[in-house]
Amino acid sequence: MIEDEFDAIVIGAGMSGNAAAYTMASRGLKVLQLERGEYPGSKNVQGAIMYANMLEEIIPDFRDDAPLERHLVEQRLWVMDDSSHTGIHYRSDDFNEAKPNRYTIIRAQFDKWFSRKVREAGATVLCETTVTELVHDAKGKVIGVRTDRAGGAIYADVIVLAEGVCGLLGTRGGLRKMLKPEAVALAVKEMHFLPEEVIEQRFGLKGDEGCVIEAVGTTSRGMAGLGFLYTNKESISLGIGCLVSDFAATMESPYVLLDALKSHPSIRPLIAGSEVKEYAAHLIPEGGYKAIPQLFGDGWVVVGDAAQLNNAVHREGSNLAMTSGRIAAEAIVKVKSRNGPMTKRNLALYKQMLDRSFVLKDLRKYKDMPALLHTNSSNFFTTYPRLMSQAAQNFMRVDGTPKIEKEKATTAAFIKARSRWGLVSDAVRLAFAWR
Ligand SMILES: Cc1cc2nc3c(=O)[nH]c(=O)nc-3n(C[C@H](O)[C@H](O)[C@H](O)COP(=O)(O)OP(=O)(O)OC[C@H]3O[C@@H](n4cnc5c(N)ncnc54)[C@H](O)[C@@H]3O)c2cc1C
Repeated sequence: MIEDEFDAIVIGAGMSGNAAAYTMASRGLKVLQLERGEYPGSKNVQGAIMYANMLEEIIPDFRDDAPLERHLVEQRLWVMDDSSHTGIHYRSDDFNEAKPNRYTIIRAQFDKWFSRKVREAGATVLCETTVTELVHDAKGKVIGVRTDRAGGAIYADVIVLAEGVCGLLGTRGGLRKMLKPEAVALAVKEMHFLPEEVIEQRFGLKGDEGCVIEAVGTTSRGMAGLGFLYTNKESISLGIGCLVSDFAATMESPYVLLDALKSHPSIRPLIAGSEVKEYAAHLIPEGGYKAIPQLFGDGWVVVGDAAQLNNAVHREGSNLAMTSGRIAAEAIVKVKSRNGPMTKRNLALYKQMLDRSFVLKDLRKYKDMPALLHTNSSNFFTTYPRLMSQAAQNFMRVDGTPKIEKEKATTAAFIKARSRWGLVSDAVRLAFAWR
């Protein structure tokens, strides 16, 4: 039997929900957290790179017992055509620092750990409980929730919507609009299991060091998309995602793209002999600043993916989720400490605090993420990767052709593919998109 009145109810036990519930519970608020999954993390999908600073702000000593896979010492950025990749690799021993900056994690394990911390902080956490409806008072203020469990409504001063990208409760409750296909990506991911020493040998790693590869190119078949390969201790996460509107327009299937990525000659040897144990698919909000809905109202705040707080250009989501959850909780604690009611006016503090954080400062830079991603996507994801490969091969092959002729051939190939004006206009569009 659970009590039916709380200071706060948090809907969802992902990154943002756990950050919010932990922060409020550890500061003495009576918190109920509801999660529809069998256990926290059972429904959640991430690549997954976790950014340490943002967790450190919530649980400073998390490294003592959090299930971390590898700390990243190397990042490879690849532009691929069908048979090659052109890459920038950055590796530094500086990343072997006492408190590493980025780790790979497996969400099913990580979320369970985070949830244990939430319980230890004093919150009540109920899994296998789907919130079906928000409860409003006569003036429209959100005052509680109904769930799929027997019993009546559960009431709280404030509801934190941390329900993830689809945000069905917020949409049904009229707090935000339906997701647009051009503002959300669909990503698929597989977990390839290999012995630890094989992973270390293939990527030149020792101990807990990790390496990640992020790749754009012909594998996304002209659509704006990104492939990724992340090393865990005994597995490799491999995936690819593209905008839902692109999938709809091209009728391509995500698993066909994943198969193409797996069989690419640059990727195939890295996963050779592995055993695939998991396949997952999930949406990622990629609408940028313009897609962010109203973030607070009478009796509610929305955080994380449900608030579209995701930086697709920098492939960051969980850190924005944790930070928005923490900041929303801190704002609620402040309002509570002044004995203020959880009105829209008072909860505006959350938005003010978020405005001052990296979350909205970064996203403001990408006002319209779809336009940026769609800036001549077929050229950027197909034509240029092929040209880059040709240019690199032409440069490296020593065959007696005078260098001046090689340079002319490369320039001619670019002009033939896009014309001088095409090249200039692509450069200008790209520069404006990234401005
Ligand atoms: C393939 C992929 C790769 C990614 N890679 C990275 C990466 O490498 N680094 C990074 O920082 N980010 C990455 N992201 C983004 C990151 O996963 C998200 O930004 C982050 O998980 C958002 O956290 P959240 O708490 O807002 O939502 P979620 O983690 O989705 O949690 C929402 C929770 O709410 C629960 N829920 C939903 N509705 C209800 C309901 N009605 N009642 C009760 N519970 C409910 C769900 O079961 C879920 O547990 C990736 C995303 C994907 C899909």
